[in-house]
Amino acid sequence: LSSSKKHSPRHRRDSLDSNHLCPPGNIRGMEIVDGVDGLIGNTPLMKIRSLSEATGCTILGKAEFLNPGGSAKDRVALNIIKTAEEQGLLRPDNGSTVFEGTVGSTGISIAMIARAKGYNAWIVMPDDQAKEKYQLLEKLGATVEKVRPVSIIDKRQFVNLARTRAEEFSKDGEASKEAQGYFADQFENRANFQIHYQTTGPEIYRQTGGKVDAIVLGAGTGGTLSGISTYLKSLLPGLKVFLVDPQGSGLYHKVKHGIMYSPTEAEGTRRRHQVDTVVEGIGINRLTQNFDIGRVHIDDAFRATDEEAVKMARYLVREDGLFVGSSSAVNCVGAVRAARKLGPGHVIVTLLNDSGQRHLTKFWSDEYLKENGIPYELKDEDTIDTIV
Ligand code: PMP
Repeated sequence: LSSSKKHSPRHRRDSLDSNHLCPPGNIRGMEIVDGVDGLIGNTPLMKIRSLSEATGCTILGKAEFLNPGGSAKDRVALNIIKTAEEQGLLRPDNGSTVFEGTVGSTGISIAMIARAKGYNAWIVMPDDQAKEKYQLLEKLGATVEKVRPVSIIDKRQFVNLARTRAEEFSKDGEASKEAQGYFADQFENRANFQIHYQTTGPEIYRQTGGKVDAIVLGAGTGGTLSGISTYLKSLLPGLKVFLVDPQGSGLYHKVKHGIMYSPTEAEGTRRRHQVDTVVEGIGINRLTQNFDIGRVHIDDAFRATDEEAVKMARYLVREDGLFVGSSSAVNCVGAVRAARKLGPGHVIVTLLNDSGQRHLTKFWSDEYLKENGIPYELKDEDTIDTIV
C-alpha cells in the first residue's frame, strides 16, 4: 500500500450530482472537427469549488490543459504557423522547418501542428526543464536542442539560438532551395497576442455572459495576459487586471514600482531562465512585444512563492481532484489574493495552463522539492488561509 494519506474533503460535496455532470448542450465538440487543429480552443471554464468556497468569490479556471497539445500554447502555435503561411513565409511539404526557443509548452504545440501540417520542428530549450517535455517533443518528431540556461544577452540563450538556427537553415546549402527556416518567435510575434485577443478573451466573455470582475494571470511572453485583457477591457472598462509573478521574476516590481527588477543570486533569489526554477513557463525579467505593458493597464500585481505554488497544487488535488502544473498553481495563488483584495461576491477568472502530468519530475516530485529546499508537505489542517 502506498503511504499516501486519505484526505476527506474539507467541503461537503452535495452539489456533485451525476445528473449535472453533462447538461444537454454543454458537450464540447458535438461537431466533427477536421484534424487535431480542430480540437484547439473553446475550452470549458471551470468553477474551482474549493477556492470559491474558501474566498466567497466565484473563481473560474479556463481549462486550457484540455487542448490537444496539453496547453494554451496550441492556440498560439497554430496562429503563428497560419500567419506565416498567409504571409508566404512557410509552405508545407517542401522541407520547411519551424524553429522555436521555448521552455516546453510552445515547442510541444509547434511540434504537434508542424506534424499535422507537413513541417519539421526544431526546438531549442534550456536543459533544466522537466524531462517529460523533451521526451514528448521527441515523440512528436521534433529535433530538440538543449542548451545551458544563460542570460538573454548571450548568443547561446535558447531564444537567440533558435533565431540563429532558422537563419542558418535558410542559408544552408543542404536544405532544398525552397525550404525555409521560420523562426516562430513567440516572445515578439504579435500572432501570439492576436489569438488570445480573438479567441480566449471572447470565449471568457461568452462563458461568463460578461459577468467577470477580474482576471489574474502570470506572464511568460505576456501574450495571454495582454490578449485577453485588451479584449475584455474593451467591453468591460471596470474589469481589474492582475498580474501574479512567481519567485525570482521581475514583473511584479515593474508593475508596482515602474522598474524591471532582476534579483541577484547574492540576494538569495534564483534568477529566472538562468538557473533551474520550479515554476516553469512564467516569469521574466524583460518586457516583450507581446507583453505590451504600455498598452495594457495592469491594476495590481501579486507575488507567489514556490512554496505557495507547490502547496496550492497539492491542495487542489486534495479538495477538487484537480491536477495542475506549476504556472496554473501560481495563477490560483493569484486568484486567492485577488479575491482577498476585492472581497466576497466577485467573479475572478484565471487560466489552468497545463496539467501536472507535464511536471512529474520537477514541480510534482517530492525528491526534487526536497533537494531544492522547497517545503511541499500539506498538513491535514492546512487550509487556503495557511497556504496563501
Ligand atoms: N503556462 C505555461 C505552462 C506556459 O508554458 C506559458 C508560456 N511560456 C505560460 C503559462 C504563460 O503564457 P504567456 O507566454 O502567454 O505569458
